[in-house]
Amino acid sequence: MTDHAAPACHAVGYRDGMCVARLLWSPELLRYDFGPGHPMAPARLDLTMRLVAELGLLEAPSLEVGDVDPADDAVVQTVHDPEYVAAVRRAATTGQSDPARGLGTEDDPVFATMHEAGARLVAASVDAAESVWSGRVAHAVNVAGGMHHARRGAASGFCIYNDAAAAVQRLLDLGADRVAYVDLDAHHGDGVESIFWDDPRVLTVSVHQDGHTLFPGTGNPADIGGTAAQGTAVNVALPPRTDGGRWLRALDAVVPAVVREFGPQAIVSQHGCDAHGNDPLTDLDVSVDAQRTAARWVHDLAHEVARGRWVALGGGGYAVVDVVPLVWASLVAEAAHVPLPPGLQLPAAWRHEVEELSGLDPAERLGTGEAEWRPWSDGYDPSDDVDRAILATRRHVFPTWGLDPYRD
Ligand SMILES: [Zn+2]
Ligand SMILES: [Zn+2]
Repeated sequence: MTDHAAPACHAVGYRDGMCVARLLWSPELLRYDFGPGHPMAPARLDLTMRLVAELGLLEAPSLEVGDVDPADDAVVQTVHDPEYVAAVRRAATTGQSDPARGLGTEDDPVFATMHEAGARLVAASVDAAESVWSGRVAHAVNVAGGMHHARRGAASGFCIYNDAAAAVQRLLDLGADRVAYVDLDAHHGDGVESIFWDDPRVLTVSVHQDGHTLFPGTGNPADIGGTAAQGTAVNVALPPRTDGGRWLRALDAVVPAVVREFGPQAIVSQHGCDAHGNDPLTDLDVSVDAQRTAARWVHDLAHEVARGRWVALGGGGYAVVDVVPLVWASLVAEAAHVPLPPGLQLPAAWRHEVEELSGLDPAERLGTGEAEWRPWSDGYDPSDDVDRAILATRRHVFPTWGLDPYRD
């Protein structure tokens, strides 16, 4: 492992001359478990953390690991209605469904420890937010987090409590005037967007598969925020089968421009990795290499615009063996400034553990190389459906920021 390029000056979170990252982890996070057969299997986190360990990242001097207990109700209620929190507790105790609040549905079955499990994810992301805001560390990662579909008053799409929104809210409560939330999950980050829809202090940018073809059905380019916050919701709705190169082209054409104009004091990003071609729930085709590149871009952007303050969260991701551990171990390494080289041979010990646990044959290497992509400045191609999707977003949002949708 080699050292990353030196981060920009003025970064927060330096210790002994190193830019330090905090990883929130407790084996208790594996108890966020909707039961056998549910796609949100705890194995995704387990295999990720085993890979993080086998790669030696836990010994990196630029990474610290923090334990985490469930958040108090007061913390959960910074982004959720007290009635909803009470309903989650009641459903967990009685085992009874509450479909009006999204509890006991096919996506969100009731389980006995669901309140504590959800509240622990919230605590981890809030810890991450506090740690980067104080400047004690530069970056903080919660791979168990990123539950972006949960709404103020309802569970949705495997998400009980919205830890991503809670992290953003904590940054605001600590004094941030502007927080950017960047959501790379294949599904629209609808819960976070809805919670901050009318709040001009929060920019939400979601790059996802077109809602006409995928849950939750929202995230159209014309949706740009409430009347008091026009331009602070940004949605890039990509056609099915968009590949990694064109996904990166879409990110490059939209995300840095609006984030720079917004000028956040911190970035919270969601790294759901279900945009991969092997993912069973979505129809995008974004390689591990492209997702690793995207994490590097978000990291670089945090150093450029937000003094390095970066909270990175997990999210969706249901290709449990060949995608999730690779993308999220890479994310941890990226945040710790010890990025993993493309095509790295994965540790034999980890591959053996995966075989023992899953009966599956894991990938031998970490991707195949650097992702290739073409920048938007190469020119717009009206015959390309991804280019048309990119331009739709730029036309709706860029004028609100004084940016020209037609120029790079
Ligand atoms: Zn950094
Ligand atoms: Zn997703």
